[in-house]
Amino acid sequence: MYDYLIVGSGLSGASIANLLKQKGYNVLVIEKKSNIGGSIRTVKRDGIDIHLYGAHIFHTSDKRTHDYFSSFSKLNNFINSPLAFYKGKYYHLPFNMNTFHDLWNVNTAEEAKAIINTQIEENKIKDITNLEEQAISLVGNDVYQILIKGYTEKQWGRSCKELDPSIIKRLPLRFTYDNNYFNDTYQGIPVDGYSKVIERMLKGVTVVRNADFLKDKNKWMKQAKKIIYTGQIDALFDYKLGRLEYRSLKFETSKLKRKSYQESAVVNYTEREIPYTRIIEHKKFLNIDSDVTYITKEYPLEYKQGCNPYYPINNDKNISLYNEYLKLANEDKNIILAGRLGNYKYYDMDDTIMASFELVDKL
Ligand code: UDP
Repeated sequence: MYDYLIVGSGLSGASIANLLKQKGYNVLVIEKKSNIGGSIRTVKRDGIDIHLYGAHIFHTSDKRTHDYFSSFSKLNNFINSPLAFYKGKYYHLPFNMNTFHDLWNVNTAEEAKAIINTQIEENKIKDITNLEEQAISLVGNDVYQILIKGYTEKQWGRSCKELDPSIIKRLPLRFTYDNNYFNDTYQGIPVDGYSKVIERMLKGVTVVRNADFLKDKNKWMKQAKKIIYTGQIDALFDYKLGRLEYRSLKFETSKLKRKSYQESAVVNYTEREIPYTRIIEHKKFLNIDSDVTYITKEYPLEYKQGCNPYYPINNDKNISLYNEYLKLANEDKNIILAGRLGNYKYYDMDDTIMASFELVDKL
């Protein structure tokens, strides 16, 4: 009999297991797949860590989170400065003076603000009810049309008019020449790879792979007093109130016999007509010098059963369905929900770890 059974070995499950073990609890982790690590899993090919499920760049402003995460592997000094490619031209991201110079050939913040403000005023938006209105109210029409609309509509498979304004608030807007995508105090890539981070978090914890909790619920429930479930909440209840929506992704990775493919680790393709949203070049995250390189094209996809549910789709319909499921979950005091899927939240890695701290402190 364990104190806790943790379902899922992604960053959420692994960090909760690690924190509980540190407090002296006896923990069992089960993982449906044959490999641990969930979406942050990496594999090494030709000395290069491949991010199997898309670019993962650790960033946070929370010192406790940084110190905890970096205790499993030193972080390098990588700064994410992606480029956007639109109709044959590169633009700097996030939206900053370099972008405005690329767009309008302006040099000062005053010139850039004047153009943006004129465009905002022309649109006469009063109340912000969707992502399109939010984006135009922040950065005006040109940035919206060139750098946001196409990317966002293919990423989410929905019109910007149907999307929640909060999605775009993740992106910084600044009037200095600064291409750092994140505003956070700490940033970097684990030099030993994300898979090593997970392995080290789970050191000394019993992990059973190829174990599908939902297929054998009764058997697994008997293994522990409390269950921490990091999978899809609608699946936990056999979809009895209906299905939550998710956005999925398809990754196409190629090995190229050349030293370099692109000038930045991440290039976003912001036109609607190009089916992928980004190309990442893995060696650039850890600055690996080698004669070959690996690139991955990331294609957004409608989620169907059997695909990986990467992103929750936070609209009113899904949020109210999630809340109904949450009521059901709260009826059973032995089940605790965690992670991006259990909480149906668009967590970054640092949000995930902060949620794990909070949960374990509470427990
Ligand atoms: N986004 C955009 N253009 C870009 C990059 C991002 O419009 O070139 C928008 C898009 O709506 C996206 C959101 O900003 O879903 C958040 O992007 P981020 O790169 O933070 O998301 P993630 O890496 O989690 O997919």
